Amino acid sequence: MPEAVDVAVIGGGVLGLATARAILHADPARSVTVLEKEDRWGAHQSGNNSNVIHSGLYYRPGSLKARMARAGGEEMIRYCQAHDVPVRRTGKLVVATSEDQLPRLELLAERAEANGVTARRLDRREIAEREPNVAGVAALAVAETAMTDFGAVCRAMAEELTGLGAVLRANSPARSFAAGGDRTVITTDRGEIRARVLVNCAGLHSDAIARAAGDRPSVQIMPFRGEYTEVRPGRADVVTNPVYPVPDPDLPFLGVHVTPMLDGSVHVGPNAVPALAREGYRWRDVDPGLLARLARDPALRGLTRRYWRYGLAEMARSLVWRLHVREVRKLVPTLNGEDLRSCGSGVRAQAVRDDGELVDDFVIDRTARAIHVLNAPSPAATSSLHIGAHIAADVFEHLGQDEVARAVRASTTA
Ligand SMILES: Cc1cc2nc3c(=O)[nH]c(=O)nc-3n(C[C@H](O)[C@H](O)[C@H](O)COP(=O)(O)OP(=O)(O)OC[C@H]3O[C@@H](n4cnc5c(N)ncnc54)[C@H](O)[C@@H]3O)c2cc1C
Repeated sequence: MPEAVDVAVIGGGVLGLATARAILHADPARSVTVLEKEDRWGAHQSGNNSNVIHSGLYYRPGSLKARMARAGGEEMIRYCQAHDVPVRRTGKLVVATSEDQLPRLELLAERAEANGVTARRLDRREIAEREPNVAGVAALAVAETAMTDFGAVCRAMAEELTGLGAVLRANSPARSFAAGGDRTVITTDRGEIRARVLVNCAGLHSDAIARAAGDRPSVQIMPFRGEYTEVRPGRADVVTNPVYPVPDPDLPFLGVHVTPMLDGSVHVGPNAVPALAREGYRWRDVDPGLLARLARDPALRGLTRRYWRYGLAEMARSLVWRLHVREVRKLVPTLNGEDLRSCGSGVRAQAVRDDGELVDDFVIDRTARAIHVLNAPSPAATSSLHIGAHIAADVFEHLGQDEVARAVRASTTA
């Protein structure tokens, strides 16, 4: 017999889990199943990232990112504290390494103010007092930033969900979808699930899942790998708190930063190079299907046309160690090549519009039976509790529970 549920969530990353949690907190009588293709929670983006709870500094005022990051980050800190997940408020510096970056730093200071983030301007001397190894002509000191472990957040949410009565199925890829009356029938390796509402939080596969479910996604996913290097333990005191460069406003990436993790290691990264497979964690992970799409799909060809200069420079820094070290030394001149070693990567599910433009804000498509989360890059882990509540409100509207939907929406900043 197929399993009949109110809501099936595809993807056991932080967003799928946070959505299931928000649904069951608002209405414990709903039946919710989470399908995850891997054998653990948070196996992809949610478990392979910088673990920074962002302050909401960067985002265009009024955007979903801006509305959700500030309050979402504070809620995430409280969640970690309540569930024994490591968390520490560290603050961070955003450092201009040359005079020509000062206008962009000033723009960030204005955004901080508009978004309710505490950012204090520092001069050269004040930077040196706080971070003696960092070179900068000016900086913003942001108070609210915190560090956590989003993999541990996912495990805590999974445990909480079991207590709330959700059915959590790891090792359960959703293979195909069909309409069955007023339900979507999802085929997995272990039978069928008939769901009134489908929530697609499949990250790197979310556009493919939307298409398989019979919908036309408004954007498509291009995987961008973020590679990290690690500072050798003897130099782990090189910075005391996270240090970021001034980001390029034309790109949805924050630039290579130096981040002391809660386990005592110091990570440098991530860069942003095109991955050659959806789960392309290394250069040798190549999916010929993705390469064929890059060659023939107008959106991905547009992407290449628009960003080739940036892409080539990032690829060069990824492949030529000397160029990577030179880039890191702009921010921390006392680091040398011998102080750094490669230490893994994460792959971002980055949405691209039909005209090839990289999408900055979160994108959530709603159709008659489904909600597809199609762009949830950083700071979506930070904001996941709020995004989850936002999606849960949509779910209740689909289920005809408008009162509950209104109450859930009122609990978010969106
Ligand atoms: C390098 C890097 C650094 C980042 N740094 C930060 C940061 O410091 N702070 C921050 O807030 N955000 C950061 N982010 C962004 C953050 O990690 C993501 O926004 C967040 O993890 C997205 O969560 P998700 O649940 O949407 O995706 P994911 O965690 O990728 O989860 C999607 C899940 O869907 C599953 N899935 C896919 N297809 C199927 C299927 N057919 N059936 C069943 N399951 C399926 C996958 O296995 C996966 O587990 C970073 C991301 C990267 C890559």
